[in-house]
Amino acid sequence: MNIHEYQAKAVLREFGVPVSRGVPVLKASDAGAAAKELGGPLWVVKSQIHAGGRGKGKFKEPEAGDKGGVRLARSVEEVETFVSQMLGRTLVTAQTGPAGKEVNRLYLEDGSDIEKEFYLSLLVDRSTSRVAFVVSTEGGVDIEEVAHHRPEKIVAFSIDPVTGALPHHGRTVAKALGLSGDLAKQAEKLTAQLYAAFVAKDMAMLEINPLVVSSEGLLKCLDAKISFDSNALYRHPEIVALRDETEEDAKEIEASKHDLNYVALDGEIGCMVNGAGLAMATMDIIKLYGAEPANFLDVGGGATRDKVTAAFKIITADPKVKGILVNIFGGIMKCDVIAEGVIAAVKEVGLETPLVVRLEGTNVDLGKKIIAESGFNVIAADDLDDAAQKIVSAVGKA
Ligand code: GDP
Ligand code: MG
Repeated sequence: MNIHEYQAKAVLREFGVPVSRGVPVLKASDAGAAAKELGGPLWVVKSQIHAGGRGKGKFKEPEAGDKGGVRLARSVEEVETFVSQMLGRTLVTAQTGPAGKEVNRLYLEDGSDIEKEFYLSLLVDRSTSRVAFVVSTEGGVDIEEVAHHRPEKIVAFSIDPVTGALPHHGRTVAKALGLSGDLAKQAEKLTAQLYAAFVAKDMAMLEINPLVVSSEGLLKCLDAKISFDSNALYRHPEIVALRDETEEDAKEIEASKHDLNYVALDGEIGCMVNGAGLAMATMDIIKLYGAEPANFLDVGGGATRDKVTAAFKIITADPKVKGILVNIFGGIMKCDVIAEGVIAAVKEVGLETPLVVRLEGTNVDLGKKIIAESGFNVIAADDLDDAAQKIVSAVGKA
């Protein structure tokens, strides 16, 4: 689960992490008061969307004198102008895709004078099963580009969960950033604070880009992006409360209510599969035969008829879906339960697109019988290969 920058900074502030003072602005009429509260003389007006690259982003339907999604203002009037220009418009960045995201929240921050910009992130490193720090002097820019062309500019190390962050980790960060004296001390303190926040809140990723040295000689997190491990959210109701559903795919929200593992994609074949591995294989084989999956969907091992019905409804509600492939290997999951769920859903929402069903495993004969006797035009398939070819040809892509 992702949160907005202003929420991420509030979380980090609890751990003593240095961030600028700021006020979220949701209505243009609040901008003047917020600007006066912060006092100036420099303000930053920042679009709050769940995507990076906002500074270099561009608003759709450009207006005269338009600027990006992060703007520096030098008077209360300028803050008000920017806020009214930005709220409600659609910002397109390198990370939003061409459709962009509507900016419904802004964050107004006390502006800093920047001397240096660095990059710092923490993430779960699967190869070492530890939390890793990634640090670079090349901040403010695209870190993927640095990793690709100047990998020597990136320092990475991981932390033993038994010891946690130790002073020497902080010194490694300070050294990697070329900091000495008081700034090195600040870097050491920051390293421990960020690690503590990461572990305490079950984060999956914490990215500070840029981490800056201000003209007053202070190390400060000017941007903050956090994503949380969704499997640990049950431990953090205060984080769940920060969820902004307008930033998420409506189909994914609906799926999460039914405890379905669903990821929306861009293709035309809706997939309903049990087991993540089989779902991946199904997506691969759809691509192999020339079409694209519209989603990843694992209904899970112990799906009930209601869950299958809900899954089917989510797939059919997607206007991109031109055909549906149900691919079930009945192990714990019984084929007749899937068949009943599919037929119940078809009865409720109708069947406007070709539907190919491949069932195998426990109660397969009963499952096939339920489908055959349903009277609906369901295309039966014998194996995965056959099923993929049938659905791809049914949508005219073969
Ligand atoms: P992003 O483009 O989505 O990553 O948004 P950032 O929060 O990183 O802001 C983009 C850029 O705006 C930063 O890399 C900085 O160069 C600039 N910026 C952000 N805050 C300030 C500030 O307080 N003072 C100054 N001078 N520049 C800032
Ligand atoms: Mg940034």
